[in-house]
Amino acid sequence: MSRHVIVTGASRGIGAAVAEHFVTLGDRVVGLSRGGVAPAGCAAAAVDVADADAVAAAVKSSVERFGPVEVLVVNAGITRDGLALRMSDAQWREVLAVDLDGAFYCARAALSSMVRNRQGSIVFIGSVSPFMGVPGQANYAAAKAGLVGLARSLATEVASRSITVNVVAPGLIDTDMTTDLASREAMTSRIPLGHVGTPSDIASVVGFLAGNHARYITGAVIVVDGGLSLGH
Ligand code: NDP
Repeated sequence: MSRHVIVTGASRGIGAAVAEHFVTLGDRVVGLSRGGVAPAGCAAAAVDVADADAVAAAVKSSVERFGPVEVLVVNAGITRDGLALRMSDAQWREVLAVDLDGAFYCARAALSSMVRNRQGSIVFIGSVSPFMGVPGQANYAAAKAGLVGLARSLATEVASRSITVNVVAPGLIDTDMTTDLASREAMTSRIPLGHVGTPSDIASVVGFLAGNHARYITGAVIVVDGGLSLGH
């Protein structure tokens, strides 16, 4: 069974690992990112997820090529950290536009074909940031907390069509996003499992949620953080 899978932010980091995971399973994977780069074996399209029309057009052309979307992984995200007192409107807006507005545009675009097809899985990549309270991430934490509300509302709206909607909330994962993170060392020392996670740690959980073994899981938030958010 080869599924039509769309992964946003597939050019590197977690998104690339997720796209590779589905390629390995034999799925037809389309990777979206601004740069239009995706791992070997994927089709790629250059799309800014903050642009609703561009997202709608990309999903439409993917559906024309590969049929109804069966799995959507909403992964594209950015950070623009700074203490809230000094955070500019642009820093706030940019993160909300990509991490939350973009997630909604992608889900809405893919859902119409999933609803017609009466099956599908949407996995949002959230974060433990809203559950922990991380200084400097008011914009990011607000956007990622918003994803939980978005996912849980959508889950109730489309459950009757056998579509599941879940959130994976990673902790500290080794990607470009966290290379220069000011708190990286301090956070690493607080991970009970003792090390930073890898993109494939997240990809395997996303793969599970999108697969048949998880058909009875919807509206869930799965934390994948080596215990970081346990607060020790
Ligand atoms: P990276 O910075 O390594 O990759 C981000 C990806 O998103 C790239 O493919 C980038 O491609 C794409 N992207 C960024 N902005 C846009 C946009 N406007 N439109 C389309 N694509 C975009 O990040 P990670 O792999 O670390 O993060 C992936 C997701 O996981 C994010 O949502 C992040 O918030 C989340 N996360 C990451 C954690 C970590 O520790 N790394 C922890 C918790 C959550 P391009 O630049 O070409 O557009």
